[in-house]
Amino acid sequence: MRTKVISSTIQLEQIISACRSKGLTIGFVPTMGALHEGHLSLIKSSKEQTDFTVCSIFVNPKQFNKAEDLDHYPRSLKMDVSKLEAAKCDLVFAPTENEIYQDEVPFEFDFAGLDQYMEGKFRSGHFNGVVHVVKRLFEIVRPEKAFFGLKDYQQFVIIQQLVRFFNLPIDVVGCPTVREKNGLALSSRNSQLDTKDIPAALELSKALNLIKSRFQKSNLDALKKQAINQLEQHTKLEYLIIANSRTLSPIEKWSDAQHARAFVAAEVGGVRLIDNVEIF
Ligand code: AMP
Repeated sequence: MRTKVISSTIQLEQIISACRSKGLTIGFVPTMGALHEGHLSLIKSSKEQTDFTVCSIFVNPKQFNKAEDLDHYPRSLKMDVSKLEAAKCDLVFAPTENEIYQDEVPFEFDFAGLDQYMEGKFRSGHFNGVVHVVKRLFEIVRPEKAFFGLKDYQQFVIIQQLVRFFNLPIDVVGCPTVREKNGLALSSRNSQLDTKDIPAALELSKALNLIKSRFQKSNLDALKKQAINQLEQHTKLEYLIIANSRTLSPIEKWSDAQHARAFVAAEVGGVRLIDNVEIF
């Protein structure tokens, strides 16, 4: 069956209601398009765990804090739709900005401190934009399960908080980061990288792996300094943070947390990249 592509909220709600009346469960994968294997792994998980998979493609202006970043964000709807068709995604929702926001009811949201560090700190207003679009999309699609990549770990934790805060009956599923063989985390932004910048881009996953491989053997501060030093030689480093996986607050000693992840953001050849890895 061909994958249906729609842009109307009313039409989407009708299709979802028809699925519901047949007793089908809905899986939802929100994206900004320029799809790659990382996105398709979320579609695969949704297809395995639910009966009807909806993928949204919407480049959300509210989550960009720089106009030029929004302007340069890659857009490739036609190619995206053929990839989703090959992945047997049931429905593609590609709304306009007006379609998404016209019926939005303003709301207050408590981030519970999860937006204080990393992307929340360095991209002012970013998560506010994310939370607004995802809440709106959740209201329209009303999925049983929603699939998010751990590549954007802070976003994943904030979406869990969104669901908790509004008591939404949605299971937020985190899916592992898909990488190139060389370790580079797949990202829509990678298409903007010049070939000559790839070795520098690889420094992000290398730094994270250094921390992961040495954490039991090295003092946290010394290891962090070594990774930062390495990153600064090849990239324009924004942050390298080792944080508690639950609260996302930075840790000073390995014994400060039971679960920790390392997070990095850096610019390479004018392209901003992020990555993270579980340490323990
Ligand atoms: P985006 O289109 O960048 O907003 O991403 C849409 C979804 O795909 C988000 O849940 C991302 O975390 C997820 N995603 C992006 N890159 C990857 C990747 N390399 N592996 C797994 N999931 C990813």
